[in-house]
Amino acid sequence: MAETIEVENPATGGIAGTVPKMGPEEVAPIVARARAAQPGWEALGYEGRAKVMRRAQKWMLDNSDRVIETIVSETGKTHNDAQTAEIGYAAAAFGFWAKNAPKFLADERVRSASPFLAGKKIVLRYRPLGVVGVIGPWNYPLTNSFGDCIPALAAGNSVVLKPSHVTPLTSLLMAEMLEESGLGKDVYQVLTGLGGVGAELIDHVDFVMFTGSTATGKKVAEQAARTLTPVGLELGGKDPMIVLRDADLEKAANAATYYSMQNGGQTCISVERVYVEEPVHDEFVKLVTEKVGKLRQGVPTKPGNVDVGAVTVAPQQEIIAAHVADAVEKGAKVAVGGRRRDGAGRFFEPTVLTGVDHSMKCMTDETFGPTLPVMKVRDAEQALELANDSEYGLQASVWTRDTARGEQIAKRIDAGVANVNEHQVNYLALEIPMGGWKSSGLGTRHGPDGIRKYARKQASVIARFGPRRAIFMFPYSGWAAKLTGGALRLLHGRGKR
Ligand code: NDP
Repeated sequence: MAETIEVENPATGGIAGTVPKMGPEEVAPIVARARAAQPGWEALGYEGRAKVMRRAQKWMLDNSDRVIETIVSETGKTHNDAQTAEIGYAAAAFGFWAKNAPKFLADERVRSASPFLAGKKIVLRYRPLGVVGVIGPWNYPLTNSFGDCIPALAAGNSVVLKPSHVTPLTSLLMAEMLEESGLGKDVYQVLTGLGGVGAELIDHVDFVMFTGSTATGKKVAEQAARTLTPVGLELGGKDPMIVLRDADLEKAANAATYYSMQNGGQTCISVERVYVEEPVHDEFVKLVTEKVGKLRQGVPTKPGNVDVGAVTVAPQQEIIAAHVADAVEKGAKVAVGGRRRDGAGRFFEPTVLTGVDHSMKCMTDETFGPTLPVMKVRDAEQALELANDSEYGLQASVWTRDTARGEQIAKRIDAGVANVNEHQVNYLALEIPMGGWKSSGLGTRHGPDGIRKYARKQASVIARFGPRRAIFMFPYSGWAAKLTGGALRLLHGRGKR
């Protein structure tokens, strides 16, 4: 009998579904089918592809309850988290890429300063790569696994998606959606299997878009290097929030609470650590302790019944508990929360830690759970120094009423995104790039580069050989080449030697 994967509902401990456990040997034939299907998809052109994508967008909105239930069942997140950060994102992404793909990938006419190119047409074109392999994590099965397939498809590629084996159901539902929306057979395929299937995929595709941990991301990059396959890597983060003494503390505390606990803290761009200037530290701690203490946690059954959902995978629960224990052992205080919840399902209480410092894992390693460690700092300079004292550089925010100063400080943070009085909303601005510095990644998603990475660049110089253009042929004749060479030497100052 064929092997299967049982998908767990982390909030109840029940079974959310069963999928085939595919093996690495199944990857090559699937990629071959994707390759065979790609030219037909490319031939539809931007308009033809946009029609399919707009139908998919409508399907997603018409079937949002079913999509939300599927996401909630395999992640244990709340309905609201699934609604805003998953459906909201993906539906917008279909519209954005359908509209902007032709613009971002349009042929570009280029002018050159070289006299050799005078009178010649120079064009830069973007051609689809062929087959894009997307490998995704478990925390956002729609946004961070399927989400990357949307621009890859819009660019005219076929896509093979390897979602996390923990959350494969949403990716399969997307296959149903795309089929009903008129996508050709095999243009989008899903590999339901473990990491070995992802590793095999790397050897067969033309680009690997990976989202996941930094450790696995490095393995992916190493393996892809062997076949010179380009990769995009969206990896972990330890995202700092800096609260200055003149900040609107109520707003900053709301943001710290929401963005540390949203999705149960299992978001690469969540608030992972907070630095608060000494004069407002105690007031800030009081506010976040009150707010976090009021959050309702439990099994998500309908929109709004709980604020914080489950921890999606068991190893993450161990990491969260270990970070809290390590902090407490080294002298931190638990202001609220701090424990796993008993009973069915996998939950860790929304937690605020104070008296923390950089000797503690909760301030240096990615916790990826519902924790909010708050550290008192002398001033903005110390906050900046500590914010940059990290192997990661994904997302950051500065909170102050003096937005000009906030911008100056934000500019000095080593991170792909550094906001002022906002933490995460940039992710919804598909016009701007999102990606990590340092160990947080390679390349970006969103913005023009978010689709150009799924295309091969082809440059073309087009010379026209007509009588009227004869003058521009002169560099090809012997005497003229000497003349041109002399002119160039003069231009570049070498004639003086
Ligand atoms: P992992 O790195 O464990 O896994 C990610 C994916 O890679 C899974 O599908 C996994 O398969 C697969 N995989 C495992 N080994 C290999 C391999 N050798 N070659 C190819 N693929 C492989 O990450 P998680 O699923 O635990 O996701 C959580 C992490 O993702 C966090 O660190 C988080 O910060 C990061 N993340 C980053 C984001 C960003 O945009 N920067 C967004 C969201 C999350 P399987 O697990 O099924 O065996």
